[in-house]
Amino acid sequence: MDLSWSAALSAQEGRKLAGELFEETFGYQPLDVWSAPGRVNVIGEHVDYNGGPCLPIALPHRAFIAYAPREDRLLRLVSPQTREAVDELDLDKVAPRGCEGEVIGWASYLSGVAWALEKAGYGPIRGFDAALYSCVPRGGGLSSSAALECAMAVAIDEAEDLGLAGPLSAPSDKGRAILVECARRAENEIAGANTGGLDQTASLRCEEGHALALDCRDMSVEHIPFDLESQGLALLVIDTRAAHSLADGQYGQRRADCEEAARLLGVEQLVEVEDLQGASEALEDERLRKRMRHVVSEIARTRALIDLLKEGPLEGSRVQVVGALMNDSHDSLRDDYEVSCTELDVAVDAARGAGAYGARMTGGGFGGSAIALVDRERVEETAQAVARAFADHELGEPAFIVAVPSAPAGKL
Ligand code: ADP
Ligand code: MG
Repeated sequence: MDLSWSAALSAQEGRKLAGELFEETFGYQPLDVWSAPGRVNVIGEHVDYNGGPCLPIALPHRAFIAYAPREDRLLRLVSPQTREAVDELDLDKVAPRGCEGEVIGWASYLSGVAWALEKAGYGPIRGFDAALYSCVPRGGGLSSSAALECAMAVAIDEAEDLGLAGPLSAPSDKGRAILVECARRAENEIAGANTGGLDQTASLRCEEGHALALDCRDMSVEHIPFDLESQGLALLVIDTRAAHSLADGQYGQRRADCEEAARLLGVEQLVEVEDLQGASEALEDERLRKRMRHVVSEIARTRALIDLLKEGPLEGSRVQVVGALMNDSHDSLRDDYEVSCTELDVAVDAARGAGAYGARMTGGGFGGSAIALVDRERVEETAQAVARAFADHELGEPAFIVAVPSAPAGKL
């Protein structure tokens, strides 16, 4: 059957499309075009807010922002993907969710970054005109939202001479960590989505050809070579296109469960739990026990996978071990954390049935995307098997991406 592949724009195409949209909309040339990638997490799910490690890579799919500062404090924003333009939003009036001046919809991600930078002491920032052109699938669990924020963050950083990001040839780790915090605050406080810092860190601090081992206790990072292609492997991303909404309460409930389990166990965060057996016995509540078991076991799996990648290329039986860790991750998210859904389970089962070394849901869950580690020459066949399984289950048509670790936010 015909498969739907979500194509990534090249840097030239993205620059051109965003630049043209800017000129058409605002009638003059932008200062320049900045971009930032979406991400996919290889392993380490729902552990960021528990202080655990995770392992994202930046996707080739990016959000491009053509940008020019203005002399006043107004923002004008346009995105062809939403069809609505935002006209003359006053930066002085932007306020957190639930307050007078709250910004609704996609403009909250962009205006939120300017707001957060000012809150962090990097203001005053001039108003701006910005044209957004993104090819990161929206709402697919691939962090289209962080891509917007992070493209915005590097645009403002350079246009306002904040000196935080550094050039792509020599990115500043410290400065980028500050931009991550501002992008996260934009998402949490202005857009009202209560997510951890994984997405923004991936978009701003990943490295081409590498996975990012991120320690969420202190947000320190390590770049680990992740060149699947040269090892005859590929990471197939399956966008189920099932609507996911992290803001709808489930995400908040999982976080609350983890906080409650940590409190009962007398630790600050679940990352401090060393004895899974003992902790299981100490928690009487079945639900809290399952949530804790996912987090603690996922942290162990993630550390194991990171160690494996550090030892050298993925060859022979090591590929099977990585696959098994991915499989266990999914099963734990499905059974203990209860954040999977029919579409994700069908995708994972079909990919495994087609011979994938491992497959798991990725991102927050309840829809979004799954990933499968497969032999390079079996990418098409695996995607076909997944698409057929979706048709058999009368689910909507999925879309596919081959994830190659790409460059972080900056001016490509
Ligand atoms: P994800 O980050 O997994 O894609 P989110 O729900 O966190 O899903 O973010 C999706 C939201 O980000 C959209 O509802 C929209 O508000 C905003 N967004 C993403 N891409 C675009 C775009 N190209 N144009 C306008 N808004 C966008
Ligand atoms: Mg998001």
